[in-house]
Order: sequence, then structure tokens, then C-alpha cells
Amino acid sequence: MTTTFKAAELALPGITSLQPYQAGKPIEELERELGIKNIVKLASNENPLGVSPAVQVALTTAVKGLARYPDANGFYLKDALATKFSVDASQITLGNGSNDVLELLARTFVQPEHEVIFSQHAFVVYPLVTKAIGATPVQVPAKDYGHDLDAMAAAVTSKTRMIFIANPNNPTGTFLTKQQLQAFLDKIPTHVLVVLDEAYYEYVPEHERAPSMQWLDRYPNLVVSRTFSKAYGLAGLRAGFAVSHPDVADLMNRIRQPFNMNQLALTAALAALLDEKFLADSIAVNSRGMRQLIDFCDAQGLNYIPSHGNFLTIEVGPQAGKYYQQLLEAGVIVRPVAGYELPNHLRVSIGLADENDAFCAAMERILSS
Ligand SMILES: *Cc1c(COP(=O)(O)O)cnc(C)c1O
Repeated sequence: MTTTFKAAELALPGITSLQPYQAGKPIEELERELGIKNIVKLASNENPLGVSPAVQVALTTAVKGLARYPDANGFYLKDALATKFSVDASQITLGNGSNDVLELLARTFVQPEHEVIFSQHAFVVYPLVTKAIGATPVQVPAKDYGHDLDAMAAAVTSKTRMIFIANPNNPTGTFLTKQQLQAFLDKIPTHVLVVLDEAYYEYVPEHERAPSMQWLDRYPNLVVSRTFSKAYGLAGLRAGFAVSHPDVADLMNRIRQPFNMNQLALTAALAALLDEKFLADSIAVNSRGMRQLIDFCDAQGLNYIPSHGNFLTIEVGPQAGKYYQQLLEAGVIVRPVAGYELPNHLRVSIGLADENDAFCAAMERILSS
């Protein structure tokens, strides 16, 4: 390596200030480090039921076609999504995970002179895509760990181009009601795109869900983002999508990589969408597991942030970092959230009953030692 080569001086200014996304620790990595098996991973809000049997069958067939390029327009998946959500296929943008869609949105609409608003304790990808462009991130202090929509609306200026809202939010699990959201949308001028990230939508009880897809007719500046990574159990394949005004989708489509959703992901997402039983089972497992973790917290006198997602963020105190390490040594991977300005909390994904038990037992041992 020559010493005169300084890559950072050649990079875009916004990039040098970024830290790479910190993913949950992979099971294989901890296995290697500790030389143990039976590791429980409750760190990335994945579906503990795994992949739906119907998806597995569809994938077996799809493998045979992999010599061909994928369907660049995802015709069958968009058609099924359009039917399910009563929207037009021209409103849908498919993504290599919904992270891809969030980045596409920022790259399509946000310029360096713009401001992008998001909440404290919200998903880390929002500041990441903003800073990568060199735009100005505007982080609005949270209220009760969740989005303070009044303060976010008040932060809008003539330079604001985008607002990210996660509902439910990750990593706090906080939730905004449809009334709160609609009152907010009524206040936001149309030069600002409101990106409503509903990655955990399926876990919200039906009567509480916002009719976000129906709102698209009324709010042309609204973009709804969803994913197959959580309740649909396809985090490893990368499949997500946005639904928006057709003109927004058309513009995003111009910079989208032609095959950003691969053929296995297209096939699996379609099969997952049609497998309503697996989705219902996933939601039921989540409700029971949430109860288990809440009962544990109550018994231990631990505070937690009431969650509408598939995870619970528990206040374990200033030793959170140490507990995270001790849990790893016990073979349980959870997620430290100090990077989200929550240094006293740990985020625990809801697993199967015995996985939740493993966390509770290890945590109880750690707390009492
Ligand atoms: C998990 C998650 C996503 C989904 O990301 P994918 O790229 O679709 O896997 C999006 N937003 C939030 C807030 C999330 O927690």
C-alpha cells in the first residue's frame, strides 16, 4: 500500500461521516467464537417460525429458472400486491428489502441543500441515507420514546424535502394511532414527502392499523413502505416495497437497478403473500411470546417500552453493555441499542417459547449474580 493514497479524500463528504450499519451478531459468528451450539438469536426481529412451507415449495421450483434474469418489473408480485391493497400496480416500487426503497426515495428526491426530518430513537437507516447524500438530518427529540409528531411538523421548513416515520418504530416499538397520523399528514405541505415505514404493520391488531394505502389518494406526498423481512419470514432474501403516487414510483423506477429484486425473492414474496395461515400463525406466536417477555419483566421489576412490534425493548440499567456480553456468553444474542441513544436498554426480539425462556433464564441469572 502506498502512503499517498487517501481514499477518504476522494469520497463524497457525506460518506466519510458515516458509521457502517451495525447488524445483529450472526449465530455462526458466536458459534465460532464460543465453540458452542444451540445459540438463541433474538437480535434482528426475524420471524422465529422460519420460512413458510409454501414458500419453500415455490423456491424449489424457482431455483431451476435461475439461469435467466429475473422479471425486471416483478409483474406477478406487483399484481398480487395491487389486488391485496386495492392500489394500482403503477404505484408499487419493489426493493431489495425495504432499506433499498428508503434509499431510492432519498436518492430520487433529496438534494444536498435539503433537510430530512426523523425522530430520535428511530430507525438508523434514515440518518444514514440522508447523510450519504450530504443533506441535513434533522433529528426531533422523542416523546415517551416515540415520535413527537407536533414537534416534527413544527420542524418543517422550506428546505424540508422528506420526513421518515416508522410505525411501529424500531427499536422502541412505539406506535402512532391513525388519528395522530392523519392529523399530521393534514399539516404537511406537499413539497415534503412523508415516508411511512410500516415494517411491523402485520403485528398491529387489525382495528388499530392505519388505512395508509387508502390515504394515498388523498395525500399524494405520502409513501408507504412495507417489507417481507419480518412477519412474512423472508429477511434473508431481501424483499420490500413502497406504495406511492404513480409519479413518485415512476421517478424511483428510473434510478432503480433493473433487477434489484432477484427471482427467488420475487417468487418467495408472492408465495408468502398468499400464505395467510403462516402469517396468522406468526402473529399468534408473537402475541404469546410478547406476553412471556412482559410477564418476565413484571416479575423482575424491569421497565420496558410497550411494543407494537415483534420485539421488546427492556430497561436493564447502565450495565446494559455488560449484560449484552454476559448474554452472549450464555448463548443468547440480543441487540444493544446504545447507538440509538438508549444506553440503558436492550432490544429483545420475540422468539419461540423455548427461545424466550432461554433469554429469561439467562437474564435472571445475570441479574441475580
Ligand atoms: C426491519 C426494518 C425494516 C425492514 O428492512 P428490510 O430492508 O426490508 O429487511 C424497515 N424499517 C424498519 C423500521 C425496520 O425495523
